[in-house]
Amino acid sequence: MQRQSYPPEILQYIPFFYVIWSDDLITASEINVVKYAINSDNSLNAAHRELLLSWSKPENPPENSLLKEWKQTISSSRVKLVESDTYPLTSFSQNLVCLYHEACPFNDQLKHIETNLGIQPNHYGHLFEVDIQRSSESKYYSASELDGILKGEHAELVDGFRSVTKDAIFEWNIHRNKSEFRDIVLEQVKFLADKGYGTTAYPEAVGGQNDMEGYAHIFENLMYVDGSLTIKFGVQFGLFGGSIEKLGTKRHHEKYLRDIGSAELLGCFAMTETGHGSNVRGIKTTATYDRASDNLIIHTPGKNDNKEYIGNGLHGTMATVFAQLIVNGKNEGVHAILVRLRDEQQQLMEGVKIEDCGYKLGLNGVDNVKIWFDQVSVPRENLLNKHGEITTEGQYRSKIENPNKRFFTMLGTLVGGRICVARAGLGGAKFALAVAVNHALRRRQFNDSVKVQEDLLMDYPTHQLRLTPLVASAYVYHITLDKMMASYCDDARPDKRVIETKVAGLKAIITWYANDCIQECREACGGKGYLLENRIADLKGDVDIFTTFEGDNTVLSLLAAKGVLSDFRSEFNSAGFTAVLKILGIQISDTLTTIDPRYSNKVDADHLYNPKFHKHAFNYRTQRLTYTLAMRIRDYIKKGMPPYQAFLKVQTHLLALGKAFSKELAYNAFADFVNEMPEGKNRGLFEKLGALYALHEIRRDAEWYLEQGYLGGTKSKAIRQRVERLCTELRPHIGVLVSGFGIPAHLMTAPIASEDWKIDFRLNVP
Ligand SMILES: Cc1cc2nc3c(=O)[nH]c(=O)nc-3n(C[C@H](O)[C@H](O)[C@H](O)COP(=O)(O)OP(=O)(O)OC[C@H]3O[C@@H](n4cnc5c(N)ncnc54)[C@H](O)[C@@H]3O)c2cc1C
Repeated sequence: MQRQSYPPEILQYIPFFYVIWSDDLITASEINVVKYAINSDNSLNAAHRELLLSWSKPENPPENSLLKEWKQTISSSRVKLVESDTYPLTSFSQNLVCLYHEACPFNDQLKHIETNLGIQPNHYGHLFEVDIQRSSESKYYSASELDGILKGEHAELVDGFRSVTKDAIFEWNIHRNKSEFRDIVLEQVKFLADKGYGTTAYPEAVGGQNDMEGYAHIFENLMYVDGSLTIKFGVQFGLFGGSIEKLGTKRHHEKYLRDIGSAELLGCFAMTETGHGSNVRGIKTTATYDRASDNLIIHTPGKNDNKEYIGNGLHGTMATVFAQLIVNGKNEGVHAILVRLRDEQQQLMEGVKIEDCGYKLGLNGVDNVKIWFDQVSVPRENLLNKHGEITTEGQYRSKIENPNKRFFTMLGTLVGGRICVARAGLGGAKFALAVAVNHALRRRQFNDSVKVQEDLLMDYPTHQLRLTPLVASAYVYHITLDKMMASYCDDARPDKRVIETKVAGLKAIITWYANDCIQECREACGGKGYLLENRIADLKGDVDIFTTFEGDNTVLSLLAAKGVLSDFRSEFNSAGFTAVLKILGIQISDTLTTIDPRYSNKVDADHLYNPKFHKHAFNYRTQRLTYTLAMRIRDYIKKGMPPYQAFLKVQTHLLALGKAFSKELAYNAFADFVNEMPEGKNRGLFEKLGALYALHEIRRDAEWYLEQGYLGGTKSKAIRQRVERLCTELRPHIGVLVSGFGIPAHLMTAPIASEDWKIDFRLNVP
């Protein structure tokens, strides 16, 4: 064995100094971390310390000849850097010392430098002439356990459902003819209804399972089969059936829900019109009560007032039609009325005209149509009368007197569907991630000249950075949506308005996330990602519209932001600005005190990984945006601007608040969940995923945090390094993490992913 001239105390520091100085990896201020470690290292004597500190002077960096000597020391040792080690550089140093000396303990001070500087193999791997032992997949975590955590109480339902999707009827194929595609999707929906899944969310009184939370799980899993199936299923059982359940009363439930759940009665949810989409209150279709016949007359008054994009419209025999209800000459606002579209022989009813919307960017297995009504009569009882009804005496009656409140109460009850769309978006994102990660675990491109084998895509830092935070977000959003659905279903919380605000914001950020994620996955798979057989292309087309239907994302984010301000709304409209300021002042002053420079430059690992820091950062952004927004609105109103105009002036600010509020909400939901997990390795993993989500999101808004002085430059940089480090740390587990999504092997049909999907440690659902 070659002799080593450095004593072990110095030798252990050589890889660190080599990395630090070769690549200008750290700034002058960060060298303090190194000095601190040296001064605290009890294994060193005074002479060692002096030598090491002499190498720690930014104003007097080591000579090139010394760097070469260090390089030689490292390369001649043949010690391998193991990227998958928890502290790769510290372990490397230890191994280097072990080569020449019997005593070679793990040095905590070196670990301190490594963790506090956030240096990682991505940054310095190229400096070593030794082979870097690429980590393969780790079996430390179990995909089944992760899947179990995500399924929670719904495991039995979800597993049963996944087994059902083994049937040949769900075999994935490329469909380019909309009419054939729609026929297949219709048969699939009927098949699922036969198996009882159509009534999952309906009350037990009508043969349902009263399990809206379980329904949401199924909805997400449906995306693994096909997007069109998911949406057609959602229109039939969720939108059509759900509108009857939520807006109708016992007589409607008893008359229709069983038939809807069994798909005997197919139907639509007809809200949108060509002229009015996001602005539902402005729709023009009328439902005029005719006292003489005791009927409601449904009518499309003008050219652009027809219903448009209505799903299930070619197969449906009935529709929940949203229209302005006119009783005794008075417009009582938007209400929902059941209207028959076709008779028993599937012939259109008199006065109903329907046209196919034609081919779309995606979801071509769903039959979307335009509908016109020409004085179509339906019985008075067809009015879904939970929030407003016409008495036998022909009078309109509602427990909610304020028409605005009535309208929002009605729409608020439909929020479950919005959660489900976010859920479906998440399902699409998970599928795309599973494909992209599995491809990256097999596909090799490029190597350096000394290696025979090319490197795996997944071993490239850029690949890790583009996919790992997306995987972490999928876990965070899964838990968040679960919790949101639980709150929505909790009868002890009758005021659904608060939930509506939250869901509006979450639906927006999650479906935007899903689209970004699917695009990233497409690119991460290169040309293979563009082939239909690999499923991402269809997901792109299908999930795209999730940002628009069930509420356009921008409009929803604005709604969420207005919800945050809603406590103050009455004051904005009056002259009571002092009251607004007072309330805001009390609520916000705590978090908006000037940030201590020691805090804005705190870079130690414990702090950066601490959920308290993450929560504080998210909350600071929401609070600060709320406060400055309120002040701006107040100033405009003070100048005499009408509130509507004032809100327009601050619209972009509102949008930022809506997004910030939703991200805070998602993180908090996840962090609370993790807090309640039992101690153990899975909890540790979830903590890491939460930290990655938080740091990645804070990083994305770093510009704003820097502007506010919340982050100093050093901390901002440290966060970036932490994100990269976490991605590297999770690299050995990335395969298990995507397997933990629980996509059954029989549904993972993408050839670039399916082979590995079946290997032993991955999930094989019965
Ligand atoms: C495939 C598909 C299926 C559908 N299925 C159904 C269905 O079954 N039943 C049904 O009733 N509807 C359905 N819809 C309609 C869908 O709900 C609407 O498309 C959606 O509500 C948006 O309305 P819009 O298309 O008119 O867009 P618009 O409301 O015109 O919005 C267009 C753009 O303007 C922006 N915008 C609008 N208002 C504001 C504002 N105040 N401030 C700032 N920006 C604004 C939006 O952000 C958006 O980007 C479906 C649509 C599609 C494409």
